[in-house]
Amino acid sequence: MYRTDYHTHTPLCHHAQGQPEEFVMQASQLGLHQYGIADHAPMPPQMEPYDDWRMLASELESYEEWICTAKEIAKGTNLQVLSGLECDWVPGIEPWIRELRAMAPWDYFIGSVHYLPGNGSVDDSLYANKCLTNSTDEDWRLYWQSIESMVRSGLFDIVGHIDLVKIWGRVPQGDLMAYYEPVLQALQDSRMAVEINTAGWHKHCKEQYPAIPLLRELLKRHIPIVINSDAHYPQHLSRGWEDAVALLRQLTGNQLKQFKHPTRNGTSYLYAYGSL
Ligand SMILES: [Zn+2]
Ligand SMILES: [Zn+2]
Repeated sequence: MYRTDYHTHTPLCHHAQGQPEEFVMQASQLGLHQYGIADHAPMPPQMEPYDDWRMLASELESYEEWICTAKEIAKGTNLQVLSGLECDWVPGIEPWIRELRAMAPWDYFIGSVHYLPGNGSVDDSLYANKCLTNSTDEDWRLYWQSIESMVRSGLFDIVGHIDLVKIWGRVPQGDLMAYYEPVLQALQDSRMAVEINTAGWHKHCKEQYPAIPLLRELLKRHIPIVINSDAHYPQHLSRGWEDAVALLRQLTGNQLKQFKHPTRNGTSYLYAYGSL
């Protein structure tokens, strides 16, 4: 199995640390085959400052230089460095995502929902203490609707932490498939992969994204899975990869395969997992 990590950050987002040298060295030591950099994308300049945990649009050039440095350091080794962005899906953002895509030869984009439309940030600790709307059901409805429209936009390659809305452990009563089903259908019509985001094991929810029942459905429907750490520090790179592979083996009854999954730019590919 090739070991890869496509969801990693850089200090440009103000809540990550580490130099390109440190990330590349850690990636090499772990025997990573591909190290993908996908930091929090800037919001459109007219909406800035949007929040304090992303680069500004004017810093995209520095970001590209950071990636370029990492590529230089990895040259001549077995490690491939890929470039991407983790973009926020909020109402009206499509034209900006298209603009971003055209700005550089990105290998892939991650689409994430950190904000409920009009109601603030899901992974903000404010949400730990109260719902963003009046109810958990309503938060979930808005969240999954947003994920579905992100998938249907056709602008992204990987779904970021697909069930982030559970981060503080607040989950509606009853069968969650009603929330998942429209997204599963959208994914079947898309060319997107879904990440197992191992950072969830270290958050309040103490569970990888996605939850097991959802992961089972994704595998059943042959939606490509990638394993990502969401590392904000070099020492967190590829964290939990072995456990995530073990989980996939278990869920597929040891019928796990790895394959090249092409991204939307027409030339790059990711290593994805699926059921035989
Ligand atoms: Zn972050
Ligand atoms: Zn994220």
